[in-house]
Amino acid sequence: MINYRQPLLLIALSALVALVGCSAKDKDKKKTTSNSDYRTPSLRGPSMRNPDIALSANFPGNVGVSHSRGRTTMPYIAMTYDDGPHPQNTPRLLDMLRERNIKATFYVIGRSVNMYPHIVRRIVAEGHEIGNHTWTHRKLTALSDASVRWEMDKTRDAIIAACGVKPRTMRPPYGALRQSQRAWIYKDYGYPTILWNVDPEDWKRPGLSVVTSRIVNNTRNGSIVLAHDLHKPTVDAMPATLDGLLRKGFKFVTVSQLLALNPSTTATPPAAKPAVPVFTPVPNSVTPVSTVVAP
Ligand SMILES: [Zn+2]
Repeated sequence: MINYRQPLLLIALSALVALVGCSAKDKDKKKTTSNSDYRTPSLRGPSMRNPDIALSANFPGNVGVSHSRGRTTMPYIAMTYDDGPHPQNTPRLLDMLRERNIKATFYVIGRSVNMYPHIVRRIVAEGHEIGNHTWTHRKLTALSDASVRWEMDKTRDAIIAACGVKPRTMRPPYGALRQSQRAWIYKDYGYPTILWNVDPEDWKRPGLSVVTSRIVNNTRNGSIVLAHDLHKPTVDAMPATLDGLLRKGFKFVTVSQLLALNPSTTATPPAAKPAVPVFTPVPNSVTPVSTVVAP
């Protein structure tokens, strides 16, 4: 009985071993073919770098009451980030900007400045610009002049207390500010009202690639781009967005630097020499442009 069954047991055992061996091989095979983490090496290289830009940030006193873009025909652009500082998202964004040598402008909410003054100090220490985005983020068109003044003063004072630097421009929440309000704010505070001409509507959280493509496809020479460092998905979309803009040949400056750029001193040919061709870069150009220092 035992002698008769032993070979059968052996056969059964070997069949089992063979089966286990096969399934192990299949498992290995699956692991190899389903490696979805793979990226081509070109997408994993180091980030691109914005050049060092020695442009003056001293825009003239008569620069104008409101701006939605710069007047330059050169490929300078300003990234603006609103509604911060945020304790996690803003430092993460600052890391991304530093890695690329990009200087941006932050329109901060006074209340948040008071909560996170160390982040405001870091923003300024790393060469970025701070703008006044009010204390409570209300629609200023619905407020009295006295209330608007309170919003401006309290935010300005919080910014100065945090980092020792005065804001030089303002952005109204929702872009809502009557012409008469813009005029007296400009006169009394010296703040030009800064709007934008590229709006990815990132606060609606349309998806990272949508934010990136809306910004990269719509940015032109002199553009002011609106984004919000308050929202995590916006910050998540920034590496691809910033690299996409750098690849197109854009150079990043702050809002004040953009305002200080005068088209006649950067790209207009001398009137006496009309025959000399002048290089005027366009957004899709990747040709490097030498940095011009405004007077
Ligand atoms: Zn805002």
